Amino acid sequence: MNKKKADKFRSILESIRTELLGDVEKSNQNVRASETEQMADISDDAARTYNRQLEGEIGNQEWQRLKQVDLAIKKIEEGEYGICSQCEEPIPEARLQVVPFTEFCTQCLSEMEKNPKATDLNDEETFEEA
Ligand SMILES: [Zn+2]
Repeated sequence: MNKKKADKFRSILESIRTELLGDVEKSNQNVRASETEQMADISDDAARTYNRQLEGEIGNQEWQRLKQVDLAIKKIEEGEYGICSQCEEPIPEARLQVVPFTEFCTQCLSEMEKNPKATDLNDEETFEEA
């Protein structure tokens, strides 16, 4: 991929990143707002548990996406953007335009979906509760 194209994808990725960071902030504000509303109806402990779960869910989803976006930006910096992490073949640009933060080509992704346990690419331990 030439530098001009890589720069274009980089600016797309950076705007996704900004949006995601904004969403995370918004989500946290919503959680705080609903926490205050619900405090009147349910006990403190129940409210705390509920909100911790909610916050965790939102956090994981956004965090996963952010991680992918960050990785893609890092790959652009290293000149490796658009290369599938699994088979190391170039990812078609049409796919990058739809999912600019994708790490894998369509073929590898469908292989992984067919055999979710055959790959150790999902490092989920990062997201387990401490
Ligand atoms: Zn691949």
